[in-house]
Amino acid sequence: ASAIALRNLHKRFGRDAVALDGVDLDIHAGEFFTLLGPSGCGKTTLLRILAGLEAPNEGSLTIGGKDVTTTPPHLRSVNTVFQSYALFPHLSVHDNIAFGLRMKGVAAAERERRVQEIADFIKLGALMERRVNQLSGGQRQRVALARALVCEPDVLLLDEPLSALDAGLRNQLQVELQRTQKRLGMTFVFVTHDQEEAMVMSDRIAVLDGGVIQQVGPPQTVYEHPINAFVARFMGHVNLFEIDSVSGDRVTTALGQLRLEQPLAEHERHGMLLIRQEVIELGPEVPEGYNALEGVVRERLYRGSRVEYRLEVDGVVLLATASNLGQRLHAVGDRVTVSICPEDIVRLDA
Ligand code: ADP
Ligand code: MG
Repeated sequence: ASAIALRNLHKRFGRDAVALDGVDLDIHAGEFFTLLGPSGCGKTTLLRILAGLEAPNEGSLTIGGKDVTTTPPHLRSVNTVFQSYALFPHLSVHDNIAFGLRMKGVAAAERERRVQEIADFIKLGALMERRVNQLSGGQRQRVALARALVCEPDVLLLDEPLSALDAGLRNQLQVELQRTQKRLGMTFVFVTHDQEEAMVMSDRIAVLDGGVIQQVGPPQTVYEHPINAFVARFMGHVNLFEIDSVSGDRVTTALGQLRLEQPLAEHERHGMLLIRQEVIELGPEVPEGYNALEGVVRERLYRGSRVEYRLEVDGVVLLATASNLGQRLHAVGDRVTVSICPEDIVRLDA
């Protein structure tokens, strides 16, 4: 079932600023769906259109099968958590969480039950009588989340809710948020510019650039099979090489000739090859059927759990990541044999 369907959405601000340029998207019920893209790509605009805070210039949107393109915000079964928490600083945690239910006229006993349930869920129990202005950033973020969840909307919209938090707390809340979404079975539309955060939390990711959706898919697909250079770079890839010429299953790039798993189709003979950092193996043995290149280590970044090498192959830079599982470290200046499995080379559009 499609919780949300967006059709041909366009949004312009003034004459020149195109925020969304024809967005088509289906978000499934019960899905943790993430809009991922750089600053200014249209993520917040899309979320605000879903919330009803902004109207599209063109296109339509349905939520739960109902066309809500012109429905005002309070009549949509949608709640929003913004990056700025928008809490009432002088009210207690309890009263902040209860606020929405009070506005809806939910009876006191029922209200208390639901507030308590959510508070336990998000581990706010001990803080209920504190005022919000006595809380840390992470605690406020939890309250904002509880306040949105307690109303049990079908859809929860979250606009970079974790970006103001430090790394440790952020990782912890990523896990909690994902667990909460699964347990309550709600549909989450989550916005972030951080590709790791998107991958860790989402069932599916939509990558946006310039108001256009570039690719939609599960994290592993978007990461391992990006469809173009923009998506590849945004997902953190660096080893992208333009295709110079093709002969059967052999492709020549600046890196030299590489054998692919199978010959490229006619329409695939232009574009780029992607070699993920972590699929590169560093000698001395070359596994059967692998491509072998000779390189020199120019830089080594020791990151504890893994080691990153900047290699030079035929005057071209190639980055390789090795897991640090008792492997011998290569030193700067070492000559190394680079092995690449044909299956691990991905062709994509420029
Ligand atoms: P993101 O959330 O991905 O950073 P936004 O949706 O906020 O991107 O913005 C997309 C584009 O629309 C940007 O170029 C931004 O400057 C423009 N924009 C957004 N809101 C407004 C507005 N209220 N008035 C004018 N331009 C806007
Ligand atoms: Mg934004």
